[in-house]
Amino acid sequence: EEDARILRKSYKGNISGNDIPLPIKSFEDLITRFSFEKKLLNNLIENGFTEPTPIQCEGIPLALYGRDVLACAPTGSGKTLAFLIPLLQQTIDTKETQGLKGLIISPTKELANQIFAEAVKLSQKIFLAKKRPLQVAILSKSLGAKLKNKAVSNKKYDIIVSTPLRLIDAVRNEALDLSDVRHIVFDEADKLFDKTFVEQTDDILNACNDPRLRKSMFSATIPSNVEEIAQSIMTDPVRVIIGHKEG
Ligand code: ADP
Ligand code: MG
Repeated sequence: EEDARILRKSYKGNISGNDIPLPIKSFEDLITRFSFEKKLLNNLIENGFTEPTPIQCEGIPLALYGRDVLACAPTGSGKTLAFLIPLLQQTIDTKETQGLKGLIISPTKELANQIFAEAVKLSQKIFLAKKRPLQVAILSKSLGAKLKNKAVSNKKYDIIVSTPLRLIDAVRNEALDLSDVRHIVFDEADKLFDKTFVEQTDDILNACNDPRLRKSMFSATIPSNVEEIAQSIMTDPVRVIIGHKEG
């Protein structure tokens, strides 16, 4: 507890909510505290991720305990891995289930591509039940078309990264079924919950109708209107602010 307090002070972490778990101090802590996949730890280290950043120290255990997370940390502070690592682990934990379990929503294609590239690196050599490799996809126009005409099974992918409109299109033409999604991540949530996107975001949330759905939001800024929406759609969330709250 004392260690956690010192660690939090060192990175000016402001964490609020009920029953806040302790942060991790190293990625190896994940092995001792959770039944964490060793191959995932290896992939982190092989890609040069040896020490977690503050938002990763706080965010990863929260998501692994199944909490809804509202996270605010500066640009360049490692938010992508803060949500990818637990999302990959949770996918491994539900390996018996076929089909789409994790969704990452990004306001732009460029950002979606970056998230996808990181997810691919971290999911190397990870297999689920029956030696099926963990499959991550970006919902491109062509993948959307293949899913629609059933050239690709909509159960093939475990995790999908998408922009809002492309995802809504896929849901509308029954190319994708979001009813088994267990965890949805909104990256750059300030944009996704702003006027331009909020209706689309709402449509996506309505299509994710598993009652066990967990929600995470990551952003460099959390304007108060976004925070209000966030608090209203989340269940017993933990709010993590690293550095100073902007917006
Ligand atoms: P943010 O989304 O907060 O702006 P990113 O997730 O894009 O930040 O990460 C910024 C950079 O830091 C990327 O190049 C990423 O690979 C790198 N990075 C993330 N986590 C770590 C880590 N634990 N150790 C080393 N580099 C990291
Ligand atoms: Mg980012």
